[in-house]
Amino acid sequence: MQPNAKLEDYSGVWVVVERSESEIDPVVLELLGKAWDLAKKRNTSVTAVILGKHADQESKKLGIHGADNILGVHCPDVQDYEQEFYTRVLTELVHERKPEIILIGATPQGRDYAPRLSKRLNTGLTADCTGLDIEETTGNLLQECPTYGGNIMAIIQTVSSRPQMATVARGVFKPKIRTKASKVKVEKITYCFDATRERASTVDIIEQDGETRDVRDAEILVAGGRGMESSENFGLLEELAREIGGKVAGTRSACDLGWIEKNCQVGQTGHVVKPRLYIACGISGAIQHTIGMQDSEHIIAINKDPEARIFSIADTCIVADVLEFIPAFINAIKRFRNS
Ligand SMILES: Cc1cc2nc3c(=O)[nH]c(=O)nc-3n(C[C@H](O)[C@H](O)[C@H](O)COP(=O)(O)OP(=O)(O)OC[C@H]3O[C@@H](n4cnc5c(N)ncnc54)[C@H](O)[C@@H]3O)c2cc1C
Repeated sequence: MQPNAKLEDYSGVWVVVERSESEIDPVVLELLGKAWDLAKKRNTSVTAVILGKHADQESKKLGIHGADNILGVHCPDVQDYEQEFYTRVLTELVHERKPEIILIGATPQGRDYAPRLSKRLNTGLTADCTGLDIEETTGNLLQECPTYGGNIMAIIQTVSSRPQMATVARGVFKPKIRTKASKVKVEKITYCFDATRERASTVDIIEQDGETRDVRDAEILVAGGRGMESSENFGLLEELAREIGGKVAGTRSACDLGWIEKNCQVGQTGHVVKPRLYIACGISGAIQHTIGMQDSEHIIAINKDPEARIFSIADTCIVADVLEFIPAFINAIKRFRNS
């Protein structure tokens, strides 16, 4: 917060837009829906801040999903995401316009610049929120986040500084659609920024091979945890997934151990997924994991510990050693198919 500024000098909810080459990231539309709710409670407006040249092109879509205003900042010399460009432009805009709340997607990009921005603004940032609400009288943002190893759902507030900043992963909120068309105000600014003088710059953006590895849209997910014991044993999950037409995902522990790519992590700091079937293999069921999969239509959990937390949210609970159960399960599927 700027020295000499008062809490009441700040108003309005901002959502920072993230856009790939062709479209807006879905998390932006989800955040706009939440921003709309928060703004209504504070009797204020929602501004979508878009860095790049797409303000006009995207105004209709952003408006339908909850934005009242679009603020487009274009820099002719910046084509792709630049960490310092985002940080510097947003710092200056916030100092000038004083929004009360800034919502950012917990994407690799958002996770990159949001902490820098909060430091420069001298304010708080709650990362990977799993819920957001507002105290109408004070304007304090109620930022829900699991803490202490998931034993407590904390409600974090930034009571003494503004703006209040939060990041939220894709899939936590549902996008909303405005039924009544309202006029969206578009304001455009040109900003001069010399990216060549910065210490860090984007050299290239390489799309990941998403054919087998995008777990977000899978109808069936076979997820493995530390109970799988090794990366070789993850091969069993690949085989099971192939047999039933699913994809393989993992817990953070499994990703950290290098048993599966980071991009396949499910949970608070990974992806939020809602497949028709989620098979949790050797997963304890820590809240940071279950937040990302608890809305799956049907959950099968396999764990050798009958007290495992995952069983409290599973529809089908199998107490067994995964390394014995999964090969037997695959054989049974094959036998059934051939019979
Ligand atoms: C800020 C923060 C964010 C986090 N974000 C995420 C996130 O996005 N996603 C995530 O997953 N985690 C996340 N975590 C980590 C989370 O708290 C847990 O540590 C993690 O989910 C545990 O992973 P796991 O279930 O694979 O391992 P463990 O908790 O070690 O569980 C292994 C389970 O396997 C069972 N098991 C062992 N051997 C066998 C066997 N042979 N057969 C059957 N069962 C067996 C055990 O009984 C146990 O229940 C986060 C933590 C923090 C602090």
